[in-house]
This record gives sequence, C-alpha cells and structure tokens, in this order.
Amino acid sequence: MDHFQYIDGDLHAEAVPLADIARTVGTPTYVYSTATLTRHYRVLSGAIEAQASLAGRSLVAFAVKANSNLSVLATLGRLGAGADTVSEGEIRRALAAGIPADRIIFSGVGKTDAELAFALRTGVRQVNIESAPELDRLERIATATGIRPDISIRVNPGVGAGGHAKITTGGGGDKFGVPVDEALSLYARAATNRQVRPVGLACHIGSQILDLAPLRDAFGVLADMTRRLRADGHTVGVLDLGGGLGVPYEPGLTPPDPATYAAMVGEAMAGLDVDTVFEPGRLLVANAGVLLARVIHVNERPDGRRFLVLDAAMNDLMRPALYDAFHPLVPVRDEGRTEERYDVVGPVCETGDTFARDRLLPLLAAGDLVAFKGAGAYGAAMASEYNSRPLVPEVLVDGDRFAVVRPRPDYAALLARETVAPWLDPDQTSKTR
Ligand SMILES: *Cc1c(COP(=O)(O)O)cnc(C)c1O
Repeated sequence: MDHFQYIDGDLHAEAVPLADIARTVGTPTYVYSTATLTRHYRVLSGAIEAQASLAGRSLVAFAVKANSNLSVLATLGRLGAGADTVSEGEIRRALAAGIPADRIIFSGVGKTDAELAFALRTGVRQVNIESAPELDRLERIATATGIRPDISIRVNPGVGAGGHAKITTGGGGDKFGVPVDEALSLYARAATNRQVRPVGLACHIGSQILDLAPLRDAFGVLADMTRRLRADGHTVGVLDLGGGLGVPYEPGLTPPDPATYAAMVGEAMAGLDVDTVFEPGRLLVANAGVLLARVIHVNERPDGRRFLVLDAAMNDLMRPALYDAFHPLVPVRDEGRTEERYDVVGPVCETGDTFARDRLLPLLAAGDLVAFKGAGAYGAAMASEYNSRPLVPEVLVDGDRFAVVRPRPDYAALLARETVAPWLDPDQTSKTR
C-alpha cells in the first residue's frame, strides 16, 4: 500500500499535488512519502514482534544502499530502524541521519582497511565478514586500534534467489559470503583469537525475492550451522537474515506479505534462542517513492511507432536499463483519455535509455506530467550525471507539507566540482583559482 493517489483527477503524494512539486522543484525529481515509509516499517516490525521467537530481540536495519537520502534515513531511524551499510560513506550517512552506531551493521564484499578502521572507531554494532582475507585484515586492524569488534560471518548458503541474475547473491557462483564448511572453520578460527568476537552468522541471498522457499532454505542452513557451532562449544547469539523481500512492481506479482514472511522466520528461529537482524531495503522504500517527469515531446514515426520522450532518463532511474525492470507509469492528471501504445524513452544518447516498450498509456502530449511508481528503491541512490545532466533532486512529503531534501545542482555547481589541469589552460585556471 502507498500514499500516492488521485484526488479529483490529480495525482497526490499524501495531501500534496505532484503538479505543485513539479512547479516548485522542476522535473525530473523524486518524491517520497513519509506516511508510506512509516507504514512499511511498522508493518514489518509489527509482524516480526508478533513472533514469539523474534519479539524484543530483533533489529530492522534498513539497507542504506536502497535509498541513502538523509531524510529517508532519519525518517526510518526515528521509527527505530538501524542501518545496514556497505561503505564508509553509508556509515557516515546513517550517523548523520541520527542512527546510533550501535544500530549500524557494516556489510560488503570489499571493505578497505581504512573503512574497517573507521567502522571500529565509530563503534558499529557488528561487522559482517565476507571472506577469509577480510577476517585477516580486520584482525590486524583490531590489534592496531585496540578495539575488539563483534563480527558475524556472512555465509553463502548455496541458495540463490532474486528477480534477476544481476541481483542474485546467494548462489554458489556469486561473489558474496563464505561457503558453509569454510564459514564454520572461519568462525572457529575467529573464536580462538582475542582480536575479534564472533557473535553470529549472516546471509543475504538476493533481491526482489518473490518466493519464501529459498529464504526458508537459507535460514535452515544458518540454523543447522548454529547447532553445529554450539555443539563444538562456540557461542552463536545473532543471526542476520539479510533482506531481499520482493515488492509488487507489476500487477500480477504477488510477493509474500510481511506477516507470512515473519511467520516463516519465526518458525525457522524457534528454539534457537538467538537475536535476529533484518536488512530490508526495497521492501521499505520502493513503493514510498515516485520519479516525477515531464513529457518533452511525442515523436511519431511513419510506421506508427510512438516515442514518448521524457525529461527523465536512465541516469535518473537506472533500473530498467540495468535489470530490464518494470515500473508502472501513470499520468499526473488523469482525465480518462483514450489509451495508446508508447515506447517510453529518455534523452540520453544510449539505446538502453528506454523505460518501456509498447506501454499502453493514456494519450499524452508535450508538457504533460507523468510519474514512475515504485521508484523509491535503487532509484535516486543509483543516479548519476551521465550526459552532464544535473543530479536528480529528491523531495520528502509529510501530510500537506513537502521539503526539497536534495536540491538539483545548478550548472555552476556541476562545473565547480572539476578543475582544468593547469598545463591545459594555465591562463584561465590562474584567474579562477
Ligand atoms: C542489498 C542488500 C540488502 C537489501 O536488499 P533488498 O533486496 O533491497 O532488501 C540487505 N543486505 C545486504 C547485505 C545487501 O547487500
């Protein structure tokens, strides 16, 4: 459920007409709904707390990479969310948004020494170790800094899942995590030294998962490993179950609802006596955001093909180009016009800059506003300035108010981030520097 709805034919974010935002901020722009973020967080955390084996001992750590906007992080943080981070930049964002270090998880396949040292100094809740060489490096850094971090070993359970090959992470051939047998020996090894404290296991098998079976299998693997490690005398107190739950981007997609998911997890964790961590990204934010765009023109070919050329492009919303992802596209003013088929494209000089082909849409004309729905996850976070298009802004709505929470840079700001090498234009650089 989301809070983008038509009121008298005008699409609103909560109580704010999207047309008002377009007028004030320009297009393209992302628009997020506080009420939807809040609802999604509460539905998930409520479902988790309803499970006896999870209640009072679970952390929902939002996967910052899905939407790293500070206001989105602050909104979720105030509700009690932690943060799952994959870089120093994300840790800094979470902290800046007011999420305390003891609710921050540090994950990622290739953390640098500098990032690990930063995480230790910050006092993050837990570092998820993804390989033997990473454990070596962390032990060295822990010794050097005199800080003994809690760690989990990220297991690759050999169960991949996800909506697209490029977002599957738990298969045997994927780069993420440590295979089961190696993870067990790594855990034992970590437990014998004094530099780090192994507290548990982690997994994250993929994204946009629509079926609970692979998740159940993966959690079963973690549960078995927990029993084996305990039988060998080790302490295992935390299972980090990752994220990955899918969302209904298209009509007909029916991802498991949070209550069903939580019930499955509750059962998988029953009797284990562990604290759990959840790392949802997409589930919390995807349907809490839209990308608002304007039609530049409609280009009709002699063969009848119609290109709807928008002022939004693949650099603003990469998912269709990267993953062949589907995003519903709706007019901001709904007047019940007859429908036509369009190829929906952006102005970027790439064939991949295509949002949809043969999409049935109400008749549209230059100047009309449209909105891509389900754009709150992996949208703005992946945006770039390709084709020297200023970075897409972001707006947060709360009831009848809205704020520009990341302004669109002007062209001076875009150019000011670079300098011309002195030998290329010494005259000009000496004048402007
Ligand atoms: C990306 C990621 C997530 C979030 O995935 P979603 O599919 O957005 O829920 C969680 N944990 C880790 C380690 C990730 O890399």
